Amino acid sequence: MSAIFNFCAGPAMLPQAVMQKAQQELLNWNDQGVSVMEISHRSKEFIALTEEAESNLRQLMEIPDNYHVLFMHGGGRGQFSAVVNNFLGDNGKALYLVDGSWSQAAVEEAEKLAGKDNIDRINIVESIAGKRQVVIPELTQIDKDYRYVHYCPNETVDGIEIFDNLNSPWPVIADMSSNILSRQIDVSQFGLIYAGAQKNIGPSGLSIVIVRDDLLALPCLPQSSIMDYRLAVKNDSMYNTPPTFAWYLAAEVFSWLKSVGGVAEMEQRNIEKAKRLYACIDELDFYVSGVAAQNRSRMNVTFQLTNSELDGKFLAEAQAAGLVALKGHRMVGGMRASIYNAMPLEGVDALVTFMTEFAAKNA
Ligand SMILES: *Cc1c(COP(=O)(O)O)cnc(C)c1O
Repeated sequence: MSAIFNFCAGPAMLPQAVMQKAQQELLNWNDQGVSVMEISHRSKEFIALTEEAESNLRQLMEIPDNYHVLFMHGGGRGQFSAVVNNFLGDNGKALYLVDGSWSQAAVEEAEKLAGKDNIDRINIVESIAGKRQVVIPELTQIDKDYRYVHYCPNETVDGIEIFDNLNSPWPVIADMSSNILSRQIDVSQFGLIYAGAQKNIGPSGLSIVIVRDDLLALPCLPQSSIMDYRLAVKNDSMYNTPPTFAWYLAAEVFSWLKSVGGVAEMEQRNIEKAKRLYACIDELDFYVSGVAAQNRSRMNVTFQLTNSELDGKFLAEAQAAGLVALKGHRMVGGMRASIYNAMPLEGVDALVTFMTEFAAKNA
């Protein structure tokens, strides 16, 4: 099989070096004579793996000591309910900023669990001169007592990313499922960060939660024990059997990230990849981006063909050229190239070459 570049939004491609290592040690991990999937999560070898994973993630993201790092079940959506159940007991109220389909899904879950009366929402995307753009209201001017404000800094489906931190009087909860570890952030600006693993970290099912210690004192709703942050902290993310293979792969991805220069280096690569792809879209009349320049996602590049009748041909020829999974989300149509950390620059260059040739041939 010749090389392919996989632009799937998630589960997404993983670093080839990690996949090769996992393949080599699949049947005999760490000289145990068995797979990492077949040992106790409480064995000293597996505990050592989890400790190294946490320590590497702390280094990569410069996570301050007053934050807990949790490895939980249930992906990104599991956290939509977990944050509500953990922090909105006692009729607490929360504010949700909506900038695309994932933050929309999060607010719907919150309303379902906490009741509409306890959840406020503000749509922060406006269409200005035909381009979608994020306009965040002055949160400090809002005279309300919220337990937290929730938003999604990278909207995977819509291709919208928010690069500035919120100026918020309340703890900020961010769904970073699709941009965690893609650029440097100041963790201390957040009350809680969560991410489903399958975009930038590892296999689906696992989610990473980074939570500031003081938030755990907020009153919680009755909830299932496996989603309870306090129990997860108390049990080192092993209240029940954790997704051990996903945890192992995440640990390998963290090691790989460190070996290639950490998040600072990854950020430079991601800036360059996005720059080349958006330049191609902007330079050729054949393609159009519906997102204003300052909110264009570095991870999920959404674009349309100006002649959408050519969509099918574009996708078929891209596939034949080894450029797969470029179809946009069914809710928005068009194209989407997801270029997470694991996507090498060569993959983006191959896509740019293909798009340039396709435009020339079909003009
Ligand atoms: C993929 C994604 C989710 C959902 O993740 P699941 O693991 O499928 O629940 C949530 N939020 C964002 C921003 C995502 O990209």
